Amino acid sequence: MYIDFHSHIDFYKDVELQKVYDDINKNNIKVISCAMDEESYKKNLGFSKVCSNIVPTFGIHPWKVTNVVTNLDLYDNYIKSSKIIGEVGLDFHWVEDKLTYEPQIEVFKHFVKKAKTYDKFLNIHTKGAEELIYDILHEENMLEKSIIHWYSGDLSTLNKFIDAKSYFTLSIDINTSQKSQEIARLVPVDRILAETDGPTALEWVTGVYGMPSEIINVYDGICNTKDISMDELKYNIEHNYNIILK
Ligand SMILES: [Zn+2]
Repeated sequence: MYIDFHSHIDFYKDVELQKVYDDINKNNIKVISCAMDEESYKKNLGFSKVCSNIVPTFGIHPWKVTNVVTNLDLYDNYIKSSKIIGEVGLDFHWVEDKLTYEPQIEVFKHFVKKAKTYDKFLNIHTKGAEELIYDILHEENMLEKSIIHWYSGDLSTLNKFIDAKSYFTLSIDINTSQKSQEIARLVPVDRILAETDGPTALEWVTGVYGMPSEIINVYDGICNTKDISMDELKYNIEHNYNIILK
């Protein structure tokens, strides 16, 4: 079995969905489909009813946070129903509207506290805010319950997350990006996960619209970079899956 720890099945065009389900089932892939917001979570819940290999998870993506924070307690039932929390986090790099930064922090802290209350892992976007995310997680003692998604920050912060035993998803640029390969070499094999980040990430990196089976290339890239066998990688990721999704 392959496990994609961070995808967005709702990014696929409707006409592609049957092809996506077939690709998932034929290649025996479990896909954690991260919500961007409430509407996205409902869509992913629907997909999981058609294709049981899709695991929908709830979160509010930092790109979806506006400068007004609504009543966050309204999300409680979604949080409870979701096996893990995500996608959540902070983005001070791609998001140019600085007025959203404080609200982003408020929303992220809310999810971290809830994850702690309900004992769930978090799937976290850290772009341009790696140190602050580390501090918030550290304060709540949630670093060990964190999946750091497609890390691209500096190596000194990376080492702090590694020392704190966070998990890391390696993504679709593992075969081409020297930085991602360097990160892969530093992350211990028992903290490694793999992801595709949905169809549009691959399109962004290589121009090719990604299918879920792209995860196989990510696994291959991790094996080559870390010089480990496919069996060893599959064993570790599946072991981590059982801990994280328990
Ligand atoms: Zn994502």
